[in-house]
Amino acid sequence: MTPSTDIIVIGSGIIGCAVACELGRRGASVRVLDDRMAGMGATQASAGMLAPYNEIDEEGAHLELTLRALDCFDAFMAGVTADSGQPVPYHRTGTLTLAFSDDAAARLGRLLELMRARGVAAQLLDADEVRREEPAVSPAARGGLVIRSHGYVAATVLTQALVTAARRYGVTFTVAPRVHTVRQHRDEVVVDNGTETFVAAHVVNAAGSWAGQVRVEGAAVVPVHPVRGQLLHLKASGPNLRRVTWGERCYLVPWDDGSLLVGATVEHAGFDERTTLGGMRELIAAAAATLLPEWHATVVGVRAGLRPGTPDDLPIIGPSAVAPRVMYATGHYRNGILLAPITATLVADALLGGTLDPMLSATSPARFGAL
Ligand SMILES: Cc1cc2nc3c(=O)[nH]c(=O)nc-3n(C[C@H](O)[C@H](O)[C@H](O)COP(=O)(O)OP(=O)(O)OC[C@H]3O[C@@H](n4cnc5c(N)ncnc54)[C@H](O)[C@@H]3O)c2cc1C
Repeated sequence: MTPSTDIIVIGSGIIGCAVACELGRRGASVRVLDDRMAGMGATQASAGMLAPYNEIDEEGAHLELTLRALDCFDAFMAGVTADSGQPVPYHRTGTLTLAFSDDAAARLGRLLELMRARGVAAQLLDADEVRREEPAVSPAARGGLVIRSHGYVAATVLTQALVTAARRYGVTFTVAPRVHTVRQHRDEVVVDNGTETFVAAHVVNAAGSWAGQVRVEGAAVVPVHPVRGQLLHLKASGPNLRRVTWGERCYLVPWDDGSLLVGATVEHAGFDERTTLGGMRELIAAAAATLLPEWHATVVGVRAGLRPGTPDDLPIIGPSAVAPRVMYATGHYRNGILLAPITATLVADALLGGTLDPMLSATSPARFGAL
């Protein structure tokens, strides 16, 4: 049996790394367990967009959570950069959402109303203004909406910076077989991976799409399911797009090095993390419908990841009611990069500060039964 730590974090995706770093920063002794290097799950596939209004277009807990997440991103990035000494590409240059049909234009109008009611700056563009704003966009675009507060971050670089910062706070990263069982016994938790057991005062299940494969004794299976996303990486031959652009069937994320991410497929393919020809075809067709025919690029690569989906699309963050020393931080679906900082704060406040943020009532595992 490995000597005990304060907190074991299962999974070293962006969520596990952000949680571990925050716990370490606040003085806890933390061990992160994964069977591969940090950030190699869904996180490495992510486009890194920070765009709540593109993802959620109605009021409610989900929008509240993602907007709080966006609000804390500047401070979070400043902290990680300072603590790791590593620069992380991060831009808040806004997004342009395009409309190619009447329905899409009407949706943009509704989104504008929602944002205006919240006092958020957004600008509706007609077809000519779209072309001036983003000359590479197809002439079929009838209009667009610019949301200036949105941004994007290099998710893999950010995850590596979190690992560096966490190590400086004494966090240990252990590559070991996958955890299969967690057992709460009196005032400690025993974590078992089949070859070794680890003991801690608390455990955080941050195993992404695989969270349901970690059995918590006495609790139901956490209902997280994998939703595969594939993403195409291109290199523009001419000038790149100026900002993140959403078409009706894909989004396009331009990077400083002249490359462009085209995402993403939404597929129910079980735990299959492979890329496919069908996925590439879909993304190429979607990009071609969004951009000018003369926009040329070479293919850098294609990648895939499993988004951790939940039955109501909200993440599962909070302590288990059945085994209170077990905390869930999973199910972040399409927004795990955006939600990483707020998740780390909510988990650390609950574990170390004894404070359950009111937001946790919406993300509570108990909404899915005996968890
Ligand atoms: C194509 C694509 C594009 C995306 N774009 C965006 C975007 O633009 N913006 C955004 O905010 N989000 C985006 N997402 C979503 C985001 O990537 C995910 O929500 C986020 O990466 C989830 O992070 P995670 O740490 O929970 O999971 P993961 O990154 O999957 O990490 C989970 C880790 O747990 C480990 N693990 C699993 N089981 C065990 C076990 N039993 N024991 C030990 N370790 C275990 C795995 O090996 C893995 O490393 C995108 C996702 C995809 C696929």
